[in-house]
Amino acid sequence: MELSFLKSWKSKISVNNTFDYNIFTKFLCHRIPERTFNIRGYYFPVCSRCTGFYLAGSLYFILAYFLYIPYTIPIIILASLMLIPTFFDGFTQLLGLRESNNVLRFFTGLMGGVGLAILLKAIKWAIVMG
Ligand SMILES: [Zn+2]
Repeated sequence: MELSFLKSWKSKISVNNTFDYNIFTKFLCHRIPERTFNIRGYYFPVCSRCTGFYLAGSLYFILAYFLYIPYTIPIIILASLMLIPTFFDGFTQLLGLRESNNVLRFFTGLMGGVGLAILLKAIKWAIVMG
């Protein structure tokens, strides 16, 4: 017996033969065509959610390079809360309760990207500051 979401996921992968599913990029992002932005048929290297994550995370790291950001408990709590929409959107879709769309995936990815980047910087900050 196979779970329905796995079956649909596998069928979506097998439909697309234009993607380069090599072993390294497969672990970074699923790259399902229906969940990936494309411009005139040219697909982004990662899905819409990951596009948001990488974009927001990168911009946050650039910003944090120039600004002093003290990683206090409220900031860490806020960063954790910023990951909830991504989790909720992805998990309800995984369970088959609803279907998300690429714009929603992108914006939850943007929010989650900032949250995850803050948490990573906070971990680094805690290690450096003792
Ligand atoms: Zn992705």
